[in-house]
Amino acid sequence: MNELQELAGRLLAEGTVQVVIGWGEGPRGVRPAFVREPGEASRLIFDERCTQNLVAYLSPRRSHVARLGRPAVVVKGCDARAVAGLLREGQLRREEVVVIGVRCGGVLDDPAGEAPTTADRCLDCASREPKLADHLVGELPPPPAGTARREARLDELAARSDADRWAFWQEELGRCVRCQACRQACPLCFCERCVADKTEPQWIESSPHGRGNFAWHVTRALHLAGRCTDCGECQRACPLDIPLGLINLRLARVVAERFGYQAGDDPTVPAPIGAYRLDDPQEFIL
Ligand code: SF4
Ligand code: SF4
Repeated sequence: MNELQELAGRLLAEGTVQVVIGWGEGPRGVRPAFVREPGEASRLIFDERCTQNLVAYLSPRRSHVARLGRPAVVVKGCDARAVAGLLREGQLRREEVVVIGVRCGGVLDDPAGEAPTTADRCLDCASREPKLADHLVGELPPPPAGTARREARLDELAARSDADRWAFWQEELGRCVRCQACRQACPLCFCERCVADKTEPQWIESSPHGRGNFAWHVTRALHLAGRCTDCGECQRACPLDIPLGLINLRLARVVAERFGYQAGDDPTVPAPIGAYRLDDPQEFIL
């Protein structure tokens, strides 16, 4: 990926940016790399192990990153949707960041795992070439082969009885240890103080047990409805492998059905949560 390294080196040498946030090799696999000198640009890589959504570092709650100066961030197509989300919601101004898009052939779900496979979201991806980019690098690889399984999983869950579905989620969410890794990895969880951390009043019990866990996950899911960009980071970050992506996908389906909206990479298209429409379906209001 010399093109990426050359571009990053040039942006740093010209002073266009003070840091390039990309991926680099680490002692335990690929990890985020913060390149601040042109001579270090050779550290940057891009391949199927680059799963991390680096847009999380542009979140306003990451003030330690902001202090590094104007950033360039390397994004895959799915990550670009998170840049659009931050712009759409007024958390970032376009001139504050240089976006370097990489043409993407898909990433692995768990690059450090014993038998990594292509991430499910990549198998039906329509945004392998990011549109929201100041620079685009790399050739477009062939699409990853395989059949997406998660839509079928969602359909299978939807077909179950309410009691079965309740039991499924009770078991899954009951395993949550409330480490908040899912929240930390999410580029669109940017509140300075999360409602889950508030204690006066305490809306959500913080200890890991069924009741608090349900309150946390329902709140998290609703806060991300119509905003989640399907980057998969929450589920990848979860140490318990809780299928958080299924919750996000279900809500994305509902938002698409009810509001005709999908979180895309055009920041000028308003999300339902921030738009008022006279024809909004509102039969749920009694
Ligand atoms: S969802 Fe698309 S853009 Fe994102 S990693 Fe997979 S193939 Fe690449
Ligand atoms: S990352 Fe997993 S275990 Fe941690 S709070 Fe989120 S769902 Fe719970």
